[in-house]
Amino acid sequence: MFDWKKDHLTAGNCTFTAVDGNGDHLTFRVKISNPVWNNPDDHSQGLKRPQVFFVGLLTGPANTRDFSGFATMNREDGSVKLFNATRFTYDTTAVKVADLILTSIFAGKLPDGIIRVDAPDRCVKCGKVLTVPVEGNPYRAYGYGPDCGPRMMTLPGAPRLMVADDEDEGGYLPDADDYDNGD
Ligand SMILES: [Zn+2]
Repeated sequence: MFDWKKDHLTAGNCTFTAVDGNGDHLTFRVKISNPVWNNPDDHSQGLKRPQVFFVGLLTGPANTRDFSGFATMNREDGSVKLFNATRFTYDTTAVKVADLILTSIFAGKLPDGIIRVDAPDRCVKCGKVLTVPVEGNPYRAYGYGPDCGPRMMTLPGAPRLMVADDEDEGGYLPDADDYDNGD
């Protein structure tokens, strides 16, 4: 079973599917908000406010786009906090499942019993579909694509990839209109 870690959930664009004992499944995405800079032309001046993690449920047929955001994820313990404007409640199955999975992984374990969380089939950082098998991309075993893997971790014996120091990380960040921000 894939070794899910908190770092996967906070990587920026993490999609995962939970399957219960009946074979029913739900697919979630935890995506970081766009950065809001104090000075858009000088990122060294930092962020105006901390980025937040939005939790969405796959609710339509386009499995890269049709996520309905319903909550934010607490960056301390993984718990979910519903948007003010959402049709979901804390009794909604998807909300309970998301909260159980996220808080469990934050606590260093997988949810007990009936719920299985599959290995990611997309890079948890950029969200691109993982197409290269683990033989060609050793980072796949850790949830990353061949581009993001070397940025996120060092693998002994893995080929070193050149990463430009000044490359804008904006390429990793979500589209502004992907989720409303729940304010
Ligand atoms: Zn990636």
